[in-house]
Amino acid sequence: MQQSITNVTVIGSGTMGNGICHVFAQSGFTVSMMDIKQDALDKAIATISKNMDRQVAKGSLTEDDKTQALSRITTHTDMAEAVKNAHLVVEAATENIDLKLNIFRQLDALCPTGCILASNTSSISITRIASVTKRPDSVIGMHFMNPVPVMKLIEVINGYATSATVTQTIYKLSEQLGKVPCVANDYPGFVANRILLPMINEAIIALQEGVAGVNEIDTIMKLGMAHPMGPLQLADFIGLDTCLSILQVLHGGIGNPKYAPATLLVNMVQAGYLGAKTGEGFYKYTPGSKELVVSNMFASKDWN
Ligand code: NAD
Repeated sequence: MQQSITNVTVIGSGTMGNGICHVFAQSGFTVSMMDIKQDALDKAIATISKNMDRQVAKGSLTEDDKTQALSRITTHTDMAEAVKNAHLVVEAATENIDLKLNIFRQLDALCPTGCILASNTSSISITRIASVTKRPDSVIGMHFMNPVPVMKLIEVINGYATSATVTQTIYKLSEQLGKVPCVANDYPGFVANRILLPMINEAIIALQEGVAGVNEIDTIMKLGMAHPMGPLQLADFIGLDTCLSILQVLHGGIGNPKYAPATLLVNMVQAGYLGAKTGEGFYKYTPGSKELVVSNMFASKDWN
C-alpha cells in the first residue's frame, strides 16, 4: 500500500535544497528545512521568496499562494527536531560520500518508522547509502534537476533493495509536485549523468585536441543538435569540479576507459578554474552576471 505523505524534511538548504523546499511548499506540503549553517537557511528562505516573487510577477502564483507556501516552511539546525514528524526526508547536502553515509546513519536512527529516506545525489550509489541504514527497502534516489522550480524531470533511482511500494509512492508524489518522474536502476551516474557527462567530456577532449574552439564547439552543438546551450557552457554552469567528480564515479564504477576525464578538465580543476562559480571556466563571467566573455586561453582564432 502506498504511504501518505504530508510532512517532508529537506536536509541541506543550498542550491538544490532551497529549490526542493520551494516546490514541496508550493504544492501544499509541510516542509522542515535543515542545514548545519544558520546563514545557509536564512539565504535559502530569501532565495525561495525571491524566486516566488518571479512567479507572482509572471502570474503563475498569487501573492496569497506565496505567503501560504512560505508559512509552511520551518527552518532547523537540529536534525532530530527537523525529522521528528517526517514522512519523507530528501537529503540534498554536499556531494561527499562519507558525509552522506553519516547523514543517513543519523536519519535512520532519528526518523519515525515508515519514513522514506531519499537522496538527491547526482552520482553516489543509492544501494551504498541504503546499506548503512536498517531500512534499505525505504531508501531511494530522488534526483531533481537544477533549477528545481523550473525543471520538470525527477530521476527516481531504485537501490538494490528499494521496495516497489516505496518507488510507487515517490513516483506519485513526484507527479503531485507537477514533475515528470522517470525510474532508473542504481548504476553509476544513473541515466542523466551517464549520458550527459561523456558528451561534455568529449567536447573538452575535442577542445584539447584543437578540433575547434570553445565558440565553435558550443555553437555546433546548440544549433546543430537544438541543445539550449553548448556542452562547454553547460559544464561551466554545473561546475568543472562537479563534472570531474561525476566522471570519476563513472570511470571508477563502470571501469570502461571511455569515461576517463579529459586531461584539460583535470588541469582546469587543479588550477581552480571551476566555471561560473569561480568566475572563469571555458568562459569568463562578469561578477554577478551570467554574461559570457570568451577567455583568452580558449578564444577562437580570428580568421578574418
Ligand atoms: P550546495 O553546496 O549548494 O549545498 C549543500 C548544503 O548542504 C550546504 O548549505 C551545506 O551547509 C549543507 N550541508 C553540508 N553538510 C550538512 C549536514 N551534515 N547536514 C545538513 N546540511 C549539510 O550543494 P547543491 O548543489 O545544492 O547539491 C546538493 C546535492 O544535490 C548534492 O548531492 C548534488 O550532487 C546534488 N545535485 C546537485 C545539482 C546541481 O546542479 N547543483 C543537480 C542535481 C543534484
